[in-house]
Parts: sequence; C-alpha cells; structure tokens
Amino acid sequence: ARAQAMEVDESPSVEYADIGGLEEELTEVREAVEDPLVNPEQFEQVGVEPPSGVLLHGPPGTGKTMMAKAVANETDATFIKMAGSELVQKFIGEGSRLVRDLFDLAEQKEPAIVFIDEIDAVAAERTDSKTSGDAEVQRTMMQLLSEMDGFDERGDVRIIAATNRFDMLDSAILRPGRFDRLIEVPNPEQAARERILEIHTKDMNLAEAVDYATLAEKTEGFSGAQLESLTTEAGMFAIRDGRNEVTMQDFEDARAKLEQESEDGTSTYA
Ligand code: ATP
Repeated sequence: ARAQAMEVDESPSVEYADIGGLEEELTEVREAVEDPLVNPEQFEQVGVEPPSGVLLHGPPGTGKTMMAKAVANETDATFIKMAGSELVQKFIGEGSRLVRDLFDLAEQKEPAIVFIDEIDAVAAERTDSKTSGDAEVQRTMMQLLSEMDGFDERGDVRIIAATNRFDMLDSAILRPGRFDRLIEVPNPEQAARERILEIHTKDMNLAEAVDYATLAEKTEGFSGAQLESLTTEAGMFAIRDGRNEVTMQDFEDARAKLEQESEDGTSTYA
C-alpha cells in the first residue's frame, strides 16, 4: 500500500516547451530548484543556502504539477509525487512513516524532486478541535518539517509542494528553512491561453479559420486543464459529425458544453 501512495517517475517526459505562459513562474522555479541541483558550487561560492522548499499556489489545473515534472525532466532527476491526502492516515504513526519512506526513497533515487500535492491536507492551520485524528495530522506535518530541516545533508533532493488553498496553511510551514519560496501560479491571461491552445492542438487537424486569439478571448477564466479539455471536446464534436477537420464551430460547441457542465456541477474536468 505504501508504494502505491507515491508516484515515481524516473524520467518524466514533460518539457518546458509544453508549458504555456508561466514564463516568470518557471524562471523562479528553475532558480530555486534547478540551479541548486545543477550548479551547487555557485551557491557555495556565493555563500548562500538555496531555498529549502518551493510552494506553488494557485487555482486547480494551472500547471503546478507540470512545472515540477518538467524541472525533474530537464535536470534528469527522478520525480516522486505524494498527495497530501495520502499522508492523512488512520493509525498512529502511519503518516509520519510515509513521510520517512518518501524521503528515504528520494535519497535512494537522487537526484530527485519530491512533489507533495495538496499540502494543505497535512498543513492546514489547526482550528479548535483537538481530536486524535487532528493530532496525528499534526505529527505527520512535524515529521515533514523535520525531514526538511535535515535537508542540506540530503544532497540532491529538492522539494516542491502545491496547494489550491494557500490561505488555509499553517504559517509554521512557511518559515525560513521550510517552504520559504512562494510562487503563485495563476489562471492564464490572454497570451498564455493562446499558447496553451496552440500546445494542445499541435497534433490536431484544424480548419484554416481556427483562430487562437479569438478562442483565447472567449475563454477568459479557463485554467490550462480546462483549455486542454476544450481542445479534446472540440475534436470529439468533429468526430461525431464525421469530419476529420476541427472547425471554429466545434470549439464553440465544446465551450458551450463545458460551460453548461460547470454550471450543472457535472464537470469532469478540473
Ligand atoms: P491541481 O492543483 O489540480 O493539481 P495543477 O496546477 O497541478 O492542478 P497540472 O496537473 O499541472 O495542474 O495540469 C493539468 C493538465 O492541464 C496538464 O497535464 C496539462 O495538460 C494542462 N495544463 C495546465 N496548465 C497548463 C499550462 N500552463 N500549459 C499547458 N498545459 C497546461
């Protein structure tokens, strides 16, 4: 069960070029994660410690996991992902044990990037309730912080966490030496939406009239994941209609369908 809680990818295939927009965010992630892995002497020479942990925060489906995977790929590091919700366990000591296993594995596989998704599941600010389950979650978080404290001895292991609920986090995890590099990952703006649509349609057979700028204008507020769903849905409309070319109308129909689903709360996309 323990191995299943972690996703290990020795050579993830996501590349920086697969990410639309997020240029500044990616630069920051690379500075905090890639440079210390590739160029540790520089930090020594300058005499500063690289950031301990990077926290990516922002709405769902905006490319947080993608960025972590791409950095792992481009630095030839193993990507190890754990969902924060998996660290919330029923039995005493089980969550802490998982955290230890996670970091032991990372050390075995180094260079490695540990990615903890939904960190809020273990690192939310405690409210008043002092139930035993709550105390156990607290212990798991303490274990995580103590693993991070022993960090520079760990060599080539970098840690990235992500959350959609930044406001809920316990400030203890944001102290220096912990998740001390915060990077906001917002929904894409116009130019980024155009780029994301271009990326996700690069293998699609598009009619000449399909125009990314117009599509991007009509998809304000969409996340990257939603834009990806839009391209797939548009393709499905063409297929249903027996065509092998995807038209502007297909994108329009797809958008109407996704919008309807999100109003109905039956949405299957992020
Ligand atoms: P969550 O908070 O829900 O875990 P996330 O921010 O980690 O979401 P990802 O898992 O990185 O989101 O994105 C989901 C999918 O959406 C990606 O696999 C990709 O296909 C698409 N996507 C999201 N953002 C982008 C982007 N900026 N550029 C290209 N594709 C994107």
